[in-house]
Amino acid sequence: MDESVEHLRDEILERIGRCASESEVEQLRVDALGRKGQLTQLLRGLKELPAEDRPKVGEQLNQFRRLAEERIEQRLVSLKAEARARMLSGEKVDITLPGSRWERGRIHPLTLAMDEIIDIFLGMGFEVARGPDIEDDYHNFEALNMPKDHPARDMQDTFFVSQNRVLRTHTSPVQIRTMERRKPPLQVIAPGAVYRHDDDATHSPMFHQVEGFMVDRRITFADLKGVLTHFLRQVFREDAGVRFRPSFFPFTEPSAEVDIACVICGGKSSTSNQSSCRVCKGSGWLEILGAGMIDPEVFRFVGYDPEKVSGFAFGMGVERIAMLKFGIEDIRMFFQNDLRFLRQFR
Ligand SMILES: [Zn+2]
Repeated sequence: MDESVEHLRDEILERIGRCASESEVEQLRVDALGRKGQLTQLLRGLKELPAEDRPKVGEQLNQFRRLAEERIEQRLVSLKAEARARMLSGEKVDITLPGSRWERGRIHPLTLAMDEIIDIFLGMGFEVARGPDIEDDYHNFEALNMPKDHPARDMQDTFFVSQNRVLRTHTSPVQIRTMERRKPPLQVIAPGAVYRHDDDATHSPMFHQVEGFMVDRRITFADLKGVLTHFLRQVFREDAGVRFRPSFFPFTEPSAEVDIACVICGGKSSTSNQSSCRVCKGSGWLEILGAGMIDPEVFRFVGYDPEKVSGFAFGMGVERIAMLKFGIEDIRMFFQNDLRFLRQFR
């Protein structure tokens, strides 16, 4: 008996020392001290021994059991310490290494231009409205006084989603949607993306517009001139020359194109002999906005009485304004996401 106990004890203690993980230690605990473990079996065998031998052997076995339990606990503690040391050395940080620089983002030039435009109109008491990018024919054309056979509905320009739905070709449908829902007085701008089948250095198939309108009793063309002149002088320069030229749009009557004095040559090209300015092509003026008094037909579509209310509307391309403001020559640069380009704007 003595010998087999000693043999088992040495074997178990040696196995404890070899355990490389906590789960191996747990397995060993079960093998040796569990209900069917080797040591438990020996303890159960005590009753087979002669009565005079039992106390001595029993004492030996209990000592062995306590020793095994103690060694198992020690092994677990040291395994945990080793695991922790491994983890700490794996996560060690060399605080003497130079830090890596975090790249700071910049605001996209179109967002800068859009925010500035919106800010100026908010300052004049306008509110911001938005509408869907996919519009129905009625809001994009019909209610803006462009019946089915109207030449302004150039098939080449419009992206059709289905027979009756289009990617909006302008933000003017928001004007219709707002007037359908509400009564004057209204003073609203509608910024957003618009879509046209067009792609070159000054046209993009997706670009941005800000549409604006004001409707109330006795709104006149003088109000239109005042608001737009103030706006353009805020965006460009305080003393910028502004002129209104007669034009035509189906949804305004009378209509005007609004020009500002060339921001590059200051309008000098038109008076000097050297008509060298590439931006205004020597004319001294830049076309920047379309505007006009809202056509009475449009008011009838939304249920307003054109005898009682009047209003003006205008629309501008945000890319065009950003290009002139920042001196960008190709509209496609806005959408190429070239960081060398985008990093220049703050
Ligand atoms: Zn010029």
